[in-house]
Amino acid sequence: SDSMMIQAEKMNVVGQLAAGIAHEIRNPLTALKGFVQLFRSGTIPNEMFLNIMEAELERIDVISSEFLTLAQPANTDFNTVDMRDLVSNVIDLLDTEAFKKSISFVVENNVKETDVNGISSQLKQVFINLIKNAIEVMQNEGTITITFKNHEGFILISVHDEGVGMSEEQLKRLGEPFFTTKQNGTGLGLMVTYRIINQHNGEVNVESKVNAGTTFTVKLPLIAKVD
Ligand code: ADP
Ligand code: MG
Repeated sequence: SDSMMIQAEKMNVVGQLAAGIAHEIRNPLTALKGFVQLFRSGTIPNEMFLNIMEAELERIDVISSEFLTLAQPANTDFNTVDMRDLVSNVIDLLDTEAFKKSISFVVENNVKETDVNGISSQLKQVFINLIKNAIEVMQNEGTITITFKNHEGFILISVHDEGVGMSEEQLKRLGEPFFTTKQNGTGLGLMVTYRIINQHNGEVNVESKVNAGTTFTVKLPLIAKVD
């Protein structure tokens, strides 16, 4: 039947994803193993070797932390989450990274309704991914603008950057696992982001212009108010 086919397809996607992740992690592991063998056979670890090893470990760390949120059970831990607080926590978290590139944040968050029903750790991951991407695509100096809007029972949160932007081709591939244009990218961040927002009955919209900038807008249902 149709539903079984969808089920089988889903399993396939998860299987492919797991295989992809395993592959991504195996590369740095193989490199690290090689270094251990080298040292065992008498080579003395020098600064360069240690730097490479550290970078490989960092890569494993990034890949696993991007994937970790997916492993958390859905449908549990749904609580009232104040999106204004959540996003401002994320900004605090990434402020140093932005400051290093002389990027500043402008936040327009004077909306009335900010409570959604959600898993706060996952929603936090969404904004970490989006704001990190915004920082990464910008050269030194510039502004990341974060705006909040209420519209017909929803909250819309936009993250706008002044980065490199994306072509139509790139836009089509967003959310595809392992799609990255970065030297050290994992191509997992947006896939995780889309999945989480989906599980929260929300939507992600993207507008982008090459060499001008990009706006990601997350739309989430507000908690219905009883007056
Ligand atoms: P990663 O950041 O590891 O590359 P993501 O899934 O977060 O993986 O993003 C995938 C790709 O989407 C990026 O490599 C980049 O090409 C594109 N992208 C994401 N966010 C932006 C943005 N704000 N501006 C321009 N391109 C972006
Ligand atoms: Mg990313």
